[in-house]
Amino acid sequence: MNSTHQDYEEAVPPEPGAADAVSTFLTGTPPFHTPAAPRGNVAAFLRRHFPGAGMRQWNDWRWQLANRIQTPERIGSMLRLSTEEQAALTGTGQGLPFAVTPYYASLLEPLDPTQGLRRCVIPVCAEWRPAPGECADPLAEDHDSPVPGVVHRYPDRCLFLVTDFCSTYCRYCTRSRSVGHGARDQRGRWQAGLDYIAATPQVRDVLLSGGDPLTLEDAALDWLLTRLRAIPHVEVVRIGTKVPAVLPQRVTPGLVRMLHRHHPLWMSLHFAHPDELTPESAKACARLADAGIPLGSQTVLLAGVNDDPGVMTRLFQGLLRQRVRPYYLYQCDPVPGTGHFRTPVSRGLEIMAALRGHTSGYAVPNFVIDAPGGGGKIPLLPNYVSGREGQDLLLTNYQGRSFRYPDTAGHPDPAQ
Ligand SMILES: *Cc1c(COP(=O)(O)O)cnc(C)c1O
Repeated sequence: MNSTHQDYEEAVPPEPGAADAVSTFLTGTPPFHTPAAPRGNVAAFLRRHFPGAGMRQWNDWRWQLANRIQTPERIGSMLRLSTEEQAALTGTGQGLPFAVTPYYASLLEPLDPTQGLRRCVIPVCAEWRPAPGECADPLAEDHDSPVPGVVHRYPDRCLFLVTDFCSTYCRYCTRSRSVGHGARDQRGRWQAGLDYIAATPQVRDVLLSGGDPLTLEDAALDWLLTRLRAIPHVEVVRIGTKVPAVLPQRVTPGLVRMLHRHHPLWMSLHFAHPDELTPESAKACARLADAGIPLGSQTVLLAGVNDDPGVMTRLFQGLLRQRVRPYYLYQCDPVPGTGHFRTPVSRGLEIMAALRGHTSGYAVPNFVIDAPGGGGKIPLLPNYVSGREGQDLLLTNYQGRSFRYPDTAGHPDPAQ
């Protein structure tokens, strides 16, 4: 199943009469066993909640965006809401908006408010409860922002926040202070960012983020990537997106054909739970990987969602099967309203210890704390170095067994 440029050309638009037929989006099922995420039947979901729409609409990302679920009534017709969820949905006002794509809604368990995916996107009243240490901009991004939309903290790379819009809002969002209120296409703001990057030769790596850059139209993204590519010192562009998890229909042959023209292009995909690894998300990742885009993933450690070694192992091994390399595991930032998601840091270290050595090294991300106040990402490791005896470094392996490494280079043996 070696998909090439040729295959993109052969991708056919859905048949007009294909309603409730096998999803044309899924033509060419990925060549592996997809983990059995608990999927309802899409056709039944459509009949029940979107009468009149068929697979042709379902597979159209613009239809998915236009039909986002944004009201308590609408989501309440799909899920049996707990009183917590009901109250939080009714009271959600100024803060992070509520929105879920029909696709992601179809992955939610109607009867189980404790389901991981459901906790990620359905608000609960705990969002209003302040927890110690929280602040609206814990990473002090606004402080490191030379022009609106650019965060320049590290010497050679910067974040370029190109939209405030997401198709689906994660309740633990690090940028909940800013997302969800602006227009999808903020081209008016881009010029200042482009000018800053063009005038700052040390920037060799630009990370497009937001909001979700892949919610932009192909033409807007193409325009932006073309302008960035025209800056000689910009060597690499990265796109951060949750689209393959929440709106996989967005990854069309036309999108990947356009992206292919802007190499070297990398992507960081956001995944939170193995239930997001559906045939649809696998297809989206396959298209991106076939276009030569190296795929990494970023995951936030979330209490009651993925703070479990078994769940994380399934997620990271599943991502490898989708050709995505787990890149970062984040301690949940102290953003207001996320206290119920936060775990002790020790939990992350336990999970790292349960991964390293026990599964493929490629499935082991870096566990980091993005330092409050703007210190950047700081990696944390379980203690594998237990001390030193003379020139011997005392090491502990993944099984807890002790080893010595003769660390003699540069230290002449005192006995000689
Ligand atoms: C995370 C981040 C980056 C990218 O960091 P890498 O470790 O290179 O992936 C760049 N700028 C800011 C402000 C960031 O938060």
